[in-house]
Amino acid sequence: MSDYSIYVLEYAYSSQFPKSGVVYGAHNQGTIKLSYSYVLLKGRDRMIMVDVGYDNVDYAKELNDRFGVENWQDYAVVLGECGVRPEDVTDIIITHAHFDHMGGLARFPNAKVYLQEEELAKWIWIMSLDEKFQFLMGATDPSDIIKAVDLARQGRLISIRGACENALPGIDLHPAYDTHTAGSQYVVIRNDGKAASDDVWVLAGDLLYQFDNLEGQSPEDSAYIPVGLAYGSQTNLLLVTDEMVKRAEGDTTRVIPIHEERLKDRFPSRLSEKGLQIIELAVGDGQQSHVSA
Ligand SMILES: [Zn+2]
Repeated sequence: MSDYSIYVLEYAYSSQFPKSGVVYGAHNQGTIKLSYSYVLLKGRDRMIMVDVGYDNVDYAKELNDRFGVENWQDYAVVLGECGVRPEDVTDIIITHAHFDHMGGLARFPNAKVYLQEEELAKWIWIMSLDEKFQFLMGATDPSDIIKAVDLARQGRLISIRGACENALPGIDLHPAYDTHTAGSQYVVIRNDGKAASDDVWVLAGDLLYQFDNLEGQSPEDSAYIPVGLAYGSQTNLLLVTDEMVKRAEGDTTRVIPIHEERLKDRFPSRLSEKGLQIIELAVGDGQQSHVSA
């Protein structure tokens, strides 16, 4: 019995991303393909997204080009593969405010947005710093922060303080302070709706980029490795990685790094006409697969 269909939808990728940017300390290990994705949760009467990518215009386009991202496709095209339009989306959970996760907010006119209070407040503080601190703004579009504040003005921002159980039915939010960003959060889906669930999925945001961060670089060396880019504590990243694994009862395949290109090999998937991956983690009761006929 699954409440939600769960899809990781690739909307762009970088075919030659430096591995050292993904796995801490992986110097001189060349490049990897990095997926840029968001997650769609199709429920009975809600259409939820976890992160919303970015609209490839203005400063986001500059960042897109700076990071060497290719084949960006618009929301109607990517979501259309699962029969969804942007205006159908009722709720958006933002894991953190980097441009490739929060940049697309304005494209979802009917959604409420869930973001950690600490994340928004700290970005406003970082924006106020001297330009010598611009490293901290490396993956942030200031206009996204303004848009989030404006959502509060419109009554569409749900500002989350710390852990929040059942933020949406069967979905819990957990903070990861001082990790990849100041107020990142990860998402736990209890897909059978039970408090002590036997069907947990953990969406890791950028607390993990790849399986390597979670499962180590080889079966013989399965120690956690922090992501290659963190604005906070590497120690906290390792601790929250362990916390996520424990919430998944030790099953690392249930902890999902959305930048991981190899998810397509681990779960049912297909390639869209545009050359982007559609990865199906779960099919909700009474719903149809969008991956197999
Ligand atoms: Zn990020």
